[in-house]
Amino acid sequence: MSAATHVLVLNSGSSSVKYQLIDMADGSRPAAGMVERIGEPPFPDHTTALNAVADELAAAGLGFDSPRLAAIGHRVVHGGTRFTAPTVITDEVLETIRGLVPLAPLHNPANITGIEITRKLRPDLPQVAVFDTAFHSTLPEYAARYAIDWETAERYSIRRYGFHGTSHQYVSRRTAELLRKSPESVNVIVLHLGNGASASAVAGGVCVDTSMGLTPLEGLVMGTRSGDLDPAIPAHLHRVGGLSVDEIDDLLNRRSGMLGLCGDNDMREVTRRVAAGDTRAALAFDVYTHRLRKYVGGYAAVLGRVDAVVFTAGVGENSAEVRAAATAGLEGFGIELDPALNAVRSAEPRIVSTADSRVAVAVVPTDEELEIARQTFAVIPRGGE
Ligand code: ADP
Repeated sequence: MSAATHVLVLNSGSSSVKYQLIDMADGSRPAAGMVERIGEPPFPDHTTALNAVADELAAAGLGFDSPRLAAIGHRVVHGGTRFTAPTVITDEVLETIRGLVPLAPLHNPANITGIEITRKLRPDLPQVAVFDTAFHSTLPEYAARYAIDWETAERYSIRRYGFHGTSHQYVSRRTAELLRKSPESVNVIVLHLGNGASASAVAGGVCVDTSMGLTPLEGLVMGTRSGDLDPAIPAHLHRVGGLSVDEIDDLLNRRSGMLGLCGDNDMREVTRRVAAGDTRAALAFDVYTHRLRKYVGGYAAVLGRVDAVVFTAGVGENSAEVRAAATAGLEGFGIELDPALNAVRSAEPRIVSTADSRVAVAVVPTDEELEIARQTFAVIPRGGE
């Protein structure tokens, strides 16, 4: 009998379930897919969606009953201060994740539902939670604390948690490999630029600062989220504009960012409009890339010495325009982009700075599924080996 080396990675979101089956023996991916628009027919809820995933896997001869399945790795968005590493799921662990719902009301409930359903399908199988916040649990206390009343912060668990941690962890390590150095010996600024976007400062493999905070709203300008703003703005909108708390929440999370600035949240469309001479799109692009430069400069100061600035996720991997603008004028920091290398399209990790650039600028495609599978496989009990 062949060994159980398959890990099923499940990302159960509010309206979609993404899955990948990864064979840890050779890195191959025998199955992958996604069920979208949960809440609409034919997938009224997560149970029907997960059953569809189970059917797709079974049709490929790789169903939940497959003897090759070693474990299921679940992406869980918020681990609070309790979970700082991948964790084998028990009843107690699930209860604790449930207790974190107030910190991630949009995300943790869907993650929990996914876990509950797959535990019913395979009660005997190890299931592991891999948290988006975990990689940031190493932030020094002074970087994680907000300067607000101490008791209030304690009572409501208000601190910087950070998100996209699995991506920042994978990409920072992969960047060290690209530089042919050990992760312990390099300082990296990671710019994860997708629909959501975040920056992190990673010193010798350890995350020391990150741009997202209590929630994924803080930091960089995103597709539909504002990122940083004057904290007085919500109160001002309430007092002067009469907006309710929910309206403000919706405004800042879903109607701001690039969408709010120029009407488009897809960077492909924004850069197309910029090239066509659209001044509103150009201003939005400048707001986006100005914020990026501020974070690069800020994290250079946090790290002291920077070995690489690395771009990842949909925008970071694909937009040469964003990479060029985000590093423009940073020669004084030792950052020199090579325009020809930057223009090359590729799915491979690569360096796009000049040979003389003191700081390497890199493009490293993220792979959160592989990272979740690796972390899952590393913590499960494996008998008979
Ligand atoms: P998510 O955050 O949902 O995982 P991705 O990391 O896949 O998203 O990033 C999606 C975003 O990447 C899209 O909204 C789009 O703005 C951007 N994107 C994808 N391809 C390109 C491209 N060729 N050029 C510029 N931006 C791109």
